[in-house]
Amino acid sequence: MIATRELHRQAMELFESALLARRAGDETRTLSLLREALGMESAAADSIAGDYSLEPTRSILHRSSASIALQIGDIQMAMRYSEAGLKGQPPHEIREELTKLQEQALTLRALRTDYRRRPPQGLTHIQKIIRRYTATAPVNIVGLADALLITVRQEDLGADSGEIIRDIDRGGFSGYSIIVNATHAPVRKRFTAAHEVAHFLLHRDRITNRLRDDQMYRSNLGTTKEKEANQLAADLLMPRRLIGQFRNAGIRAPEELAVKFRVSVEAMRIRLGIKENSK
Ligand SMILES: [Zn+2]
Repeated sequence: MIATRELHRQAMELFESALLARRAGDETRTLSLLREALGMESAAADSIAGDYSLEPTRSILHRSSASIALQIGDIQMAMRYSEAGLKGQPPHEIREELTKLQEQALTLRALRTDYRRRPPQGLTHIQKIIRRYTATAPVNIVGLADALLITVRQEDLGADSGEIIRDIDRGGFSGYSIIVNATHAPVRKRFTAAHEVAHFLLHRDRITNRLRDDQMYRSNLGTTKEKEANQLAADLLMPRRLIGQFRNAGIRAPEELAVKFRVSVEAMRIRLGIKENSK
């Protein structure tokens, strides 16, 4: 146990130094310190992995190993330590965190897989996540972004609607953040978040550092890509299957449906084909 404690202490020191390096903007040093921290922390976890009586220490060390591994994008290590941690008897809260880390590692792996070369059988992991979040209205769009490992925050963006940026510092494990204009109305913010999630899903290989959408959701990606993003945003916020369910239950007016889906009446009218999309 003394050796385990010492390894853990050193790992936490390295981790603290990594945070300082990140704050100083030195990403190369941050990554190398995190790698060293992972080496120490995983060695600490390994040293007691066979002793199932050492809870919660056993699961705590596995959890932090998996978490550091995800921060440096080491999916295999993240999977290995979250799985090994779950094989013990972790307290309820740590079990939930280990399960979440395992899920996040699967998501990160799916985000890195190019399905164009090798189409999967059935739904992809990403499609399953989308399916889960678009099953009830109003769609929890920030929850969906979070499940896709993207951080969402609000800032005053002047006249612009939103942006998606590569953000190792504050972004989720995907390395991206979405920023929506804090001064806009709630329904507008939800549409912007969905539009940026759509850019992430469809166009992230074209985002170098920052993709900014103006008031009319125009960006340097061009009209075709913007139409794609608007279409997918509508699919995410107003799934046709759900609209059908409400209509069958007698809720048909665009004003009522807009409230149920927490979107603007205009967006719902376009979705229902009542109003031409001018964009
Ligand atoms: Zn856009």
